[in-house]
Amino acid sequence: MIDLSKYTKELSKLFSSSGNILIICHINPDGDAVGAQLALYHYFKSKNKNVSMIAPNNLQEFLKWMDGADQINIFVKDRKRCRILIGEADLIIMLDFNQPIRLGEAEEYVNASGAKKLIIDHHLDPENFADLIISDPTKCSTSELVHELVCGLNGKTFMNRPYAEALYVGIITDTGNFEHGSYSSRTFRIVADLLDTGIKKEDIINLIYNNFSSDRIRLQGFALNQRMVVLPEYRTAYIYLSKNDLKEYNHVKGDTEGFVNMPLSIKGINFSALFIEKENFIKLSFRSKGQFPSNEFASQYFSGGGHRNASGGEFADTLENTITFFLKVLKENVWRFEDDM
Ligand code: 5GP
Ligand code: MN
Repeated sequence: MIDLSKYTKELSKLFSSSGNILIICHINPDGDAVGAQLALYHYFKSKNKNVSMIAPNNLQEFLKWMDGADQINIFVKDRKRCRILIGEADLIIMLDFNQPIRLGEAEEYVNASGAKKLIIDHHLDPENFADLIISDPTKCSTSELVHELVCGLNGKTFMNRPYAEALYVGIITDTGNFEHGSYSSRTFRIVADLLDTGIKKEDIINLIYNNFSSDRIRLQGFALNQRMVVLPEYRTAYIYLSKNDLKEYNHVKGDTEGFVNMPLSIKGINFSALFIEKENFIKLSFRSKGQFPSNEFASQYFSGGGHRNASGGEFADTLENTITFFLKVLKENVWRFEDDM
């Protein structure tokens, strides 16, 4: 854990000297990316700062209800306006990612901008593409990290309703509703403060988790029934879905979110993989329990990365060949998770 108070002075100077502040989250933003972005936005708004927001591409439906979400400019929908915002920014704050490629199309404009750049993130090993990088992988979410920095700046706990809702969304989505990830007693103390603002946690849970289409639920059933392979000898299970499978169930973006977690609830399974067939490549997601560094596995074999227990990557081959390759490298690496067996 790093001592965040050492950043208070620097951040305070950076924020007060910046007229136009721009907050950008990563491509395919998840609840934590948007939650952290909106929380910081509401904080700056309360301090009457001039602040704007960009997401590289569309928000998923289950995040659009959030207070301030309609103020997020979508780069691929409004390129002109977003380029102007990037050009006019004195400070660009990038949240919840550690590689510039996750800026999507905005990357080249952010690179070219003369603005000061700040990264706030909880992924391991950030690349160096900012003036200041605040990276703390012991935090369960970027939202938690943002809150601790904001409280440092504010001199005492900062809180208001939309801010609390945004943080709550960030924390529950990155921990699977307090099931995994590096949440701690500190996380629960923060959540206690959030609940004290009167946010309606049942409503938020319903908006985030209980709004699936029937097609999505049927796809989940199909994936578990027909497309899951369990390898007890390797403490591993994987699910694969072809383009045709997805079409059959009228797949829309986000429908397979969470599928990769499901095999981990099988007794004795410590490593889970999800293969999704895309146009020219296979997208992989990994989850592990215990010490197995799924992110190292992802970066070594699948041009990816992430956290120890949640990571992903890509492979430019057919679904069949990707699974064959996965099985080969899994066998070569099985010794790495013997401790967890
Ligand atoms: P998910 O499986 O939910 O798509 O991704 C889980 C985590 O893995 C993400 O938060 C991200 O850190 C990481 N991740 C997923 N896909 C990739 C990828 O293609 N490259 C890298 N570097 N990280 C990824
Ligand atoms: Mn996150």
